[in-house]
Amino acid sequence: MSDQEFYEVEPVEEGEASMGNPPVPSGKGDETSSGRQEETEEYEQVCYLCRRPERIAGKMIRIPNDICICQDCMQKTFDTMNHSGFPMDQLMGSGKMPNISMINLADLQGFSPQPQKIKKKKKEKKEQPQFDIRSIPAPHKIKASLDEYVVGQEHAKKVMSVAVYNHYKRVASDAADGIEIEKSNMLMIGPTGSGKTYMVKTLARLLDVPLAITDATSLTEAGYIGDDIESVVSKLLAAADNDVERAEHGIIFIDEIDKIAKKRNTNQRDVSGESVQQGMLKLLEGADVEVPVGASSKNAMVPMVTVNTRNILFICGGAFPDLEEIIKERLNKEASIGFKADLKDKYDKEENILTKVLVEDVRRYGMIPEFLGRMPILFSLEALTEEMLVRVLAEPKNAIIRQYQKLLAMDEVKLEFEEAALHTIAAKAKEKKVGARALRAILEEFMLDIMYEIPKDDNIGMVTITKDYIEGTGGPMITLRQGILGHS
Ligand code: ADP
Repeated sequence: MSDQEFYEVEPVEEGEASMGNPPVPSGKGDETSSGRQEETEEYEQVCYLCRRPERIAGKMIRIPNDICICQDCMQKTFDTMNHSGFPMDQLMGSGKMPNISMINLADLQGFSPQPQKIKKKKKEKKEQPQFDIRSIPAPHKIKASLDEYVVGQEHAKKVMSVAVYNHYKRVASDAADGIEIEKSNMLMIGPTGSGKTYMVKTLARLLDVPLAITDATSLTEAGYIGDDIESVVSKLLAAADNDVERAEHGIIFIDEIDKIAKKRNTNQRDVSGESVQQGMLKLLEGADVEVPVGASSKNAMVPMVTVNTRNILFICGGAFPDLEEIIKERLNKEASIGFKADLKDKYDKEENILTKVLVEDVRRYGMIPEFLGRMPILFSLEALTEEMLVRVLAEPKNAIIRQYQKLLAMDEVKLEFEEAALHTIAAKAKEKKVGARALRAILEEFMLDIMYEIPKDDNIGMVTITKDYIEGTGGPMITLRQGILGHS
C-alpha cells in the first residue's frame, strides 16, 4: 500500500502527512467531536522532554505521533544545535539539507510514547462568600463572624471590623466630590501565637478577598539578595488566580514587621531594615506596580501586568519584643511629672502594657515616621491567658478538639475531654510562651496513641481524655459500645 492510499483511509493533518507519518490506528475516528472537546477540557498535555504539564510549561508544540514539546525545550534544542559546532550553515547553504529535521521522526515510527496527557486538576468548588465587598455588612456583623473563630481579642476584633468596613466603603466610593477617604492600613502588635495571622486569614476568608502573607524578614531593598518589596504584590496576584481586579481589592499581611525596624548603632548600609520601610511607602499609599504573572521574579521570559495598590489593604503585624519597656518608660515618666505625680514604678508590674501603645512608642522602637503615617490604625492584641487557651481548644468553629472529634467520629467513636484535662493542656501550653501555637503540638502528642490504638478495636464507643492522662499518671477512659457493654 502506498502512502497515498493510506491517507485516504484516514486523513491526517497536512503537516503530519508531509512528514510521512502514518496514522495511528487507535480508533480515534469514532470519537465524537464533543467527546474530543471534553477530553481536551479534562486533560492537559505534558512535555515529552521535561515532563512538565501545559499549565506550568505553557503552550505545547505538537509533533507527530501525539508528542508534545514545550517551547522551552524546543528552544533548548535549537540552542544546542546552534552552539554545538554542527556546520548547519554549510549544510543548508550547500543544499544538502533542504529541510532541517531536529528530531529524526522516522525513529519514532511505530513507537508509541507514554501517554502525553495528565488529568487537569478539578477546579475547587468555590465556597459561597459570607460577605460581598460591594454590600459590606456593618462592623458589628463582621465582628460577630470573627467571634465564631477568634477567642478574646475583643478590642482588636472591633478595631479591625471598623477598619475593614471603612476600607471597603472607601473602595466603593468615588472621590468626585473631592473628599477622598483615607486608607485604613493597620499595624497590629501582639505576642506570638496571639492570633494575628489567624485573624487576618479569617477576615479574608469571610470577605472572600485574596490574601497574601509575607514575612518582612525576607524582604530587602530592590537589587539585594532576598525578595524585593514588590514581590508581595506578585504573591497577592497569584492568590487572586492572576485576576488583577480581584488582586486590587485584596489584603496583604506583612508579618514580623518589627524585624525591619531601624537598626541602632550601625554604620553599614541597612538593606533589610530602614530601607525596606522606605521602599514600602509607595506601595502602602497606592502605586502602579509592574509584577510578573505566574512567577516570583522578573525576567525577560515572564509577562508583566500592572497592579494598582491604591485599594489593597495592608495589615502589618509584629511582636515588637522590647516595646513594653519603651511604653513603661514613657508611662513612668508621665506619671512622675506634674499633678499626676505618682509612684515612679507604678507601671512596672502591669500586665498587657501593650494595650497602651502609642505611635510615638513604635517610632522610638525604630519604625520611621513616614511608615507609621501610612498605617493610621494602630492596635494591640493581648497575650492569651490560660483561661483563653482553654476556650481556644474548644470554642472556635474549627477548634482543635472539634477536629479530633470529627476524625474519630469517622470511626464511630465519641471523643470527650474532661474540663480539668483542658486546663492542664492550657497550663502546659502557657509555659511554652508561644501562645496558642503550643496547643496543637501538645495535643498531638497525647492524641497519637489514641489515634493509633482506637481503630484496632471495633468495640470501643467512646474515649474520654482525663487529667491524669495529660499529667502522665493515668490513661484515657475507654467506654465500650452500649450493646457490647450489655453482654460483658
Ligand atoms: P501570631 O499572632 O503569631 O500570628 P497565629 O495567628 O499564627 O499567631 O496563631 C497560631 C494559631 O493559634 C492559629 O492558627 C489559631 O489556630 C490559634 N489561635 C491563636 N490565637 C487565637 C485566638 N485568639 N482564638 C482562636 N485561635 C487562636
